[in-house]
Amino acid sequence: MPGTVTISIELELGWGVAKYGKLDKLSDGRMAETQYLSRLLERCDDHDVPITFDVVGHLFHENCAGHHGGPHPDDWWDIDPGTSVDEDPAFYAPDLVEDIRSRRTTHEICTHTYSHIECDAVDPTVVEWEVDRSRRVHERNGVPAATSIVPPRHGTPPSETLAEGGIRVKRSPHYRAPGERRPSSDVRKLYEILLERHPTVSPREMDGIIETYSPEYTTLAVPYLQTGQYSPHPVYRPIPHTFRQRLHAWNLRRGVDAAVQGGDVHYWCHLYDLANEQQWPQIDDFLGYLAKRRDRGDVEIRPMRDLPAICGQPTLNEADPAEQPGIVIE
Ligand SMILES: [Zn+2]
Ligand SMILES: [Zn+2]
Repeated sequence: MPGTVTISIELELGWGVAKYGKLDKLSDGRMAETQYLSRLLERCDDHDVPITFDVVGHLFHENCAGHHGGPHPDDWWDIDPGTSVDEDPAFYAPDLVEDIRSRRTTHEICTHTYSHIECDAVDPTVVEWEVDRSRRVHERNGVPAATSIVPPRHGTPPSETLAEGGIRVKRSPHYRAPGERRPSSDVRKLYEILLERHPTVSPREMDGIIETYSPEYTTLAVPYLQTGQYSPHPVYRPIPHTFRQRLHAWNLRRGVDAAVQGGDVHYWCHLYDLANEQQWPQIDDFLGYLAKRRDRGDVEIRPMRDLPAICGQPTLNEADPAEQPGIVIE
């Protein structure tokens, strides 16, 4: 049986960076993000590749008054400009949501919470509010209710809250088998990012939610090249730039090859990561390669919404824990 490739891209723009003083990671007026999303969507149509876009609910709005209530900490909405898409396109992006929806390929719009909340750092009532508010935003905009979630900054949300909000699938950081350790040193971590093949880990059901796994670091766009408008970390710079680009292309293809051998590979990054000429050419090449292998029947491309089906789980309630798939780590 062929393996699967899942691609998820976080669309959060200012909501993911403003709190950390990194708004300049985005391009002016997020023009590059808008343009590269369009290029990506064109390529997806050329090759019939569906992607899971993890969209922060607030980005659906044309404008707002700058405060949304909720059981959040008092200063939570301080970064909300309370303006409109024309004035602050990093905080409102109905045009990008529309671009995704208008394409021939049926992409998945999953939730990345309403305001990029770190789910393990707040009270569960805040997570509940965020999931519910995202659901309402989808409904109001005629977008199918999200059945998947990508928790911001890998902050684990309570499974019960997700299940109650209709969420069946979540992306989690790379599951490591018992005995398999996280890299114990910076050198080892560097080696993993640069040279190890993409991990293949089968999705599995945990507390009623199917988890799909990807490394903590981005793997569609990569940290060793320019990410958004930021230069890569100085540790990567002694490696010639053209070599790093070749490494990126090789690593992307190697992940597909791992899936062809029967694994499940989940690539991810943020939209702003790939929105530059250092990252994009390799991703363009990868989409063509992935589609070619899929067309040959070597691999399947599955957005997150399709993962319950490959886990043999028609509904959450009918899931039989005894029949959950095992974990394969390579
Ligand atoms: Zn707002
Ligand atoms: Zn995010």
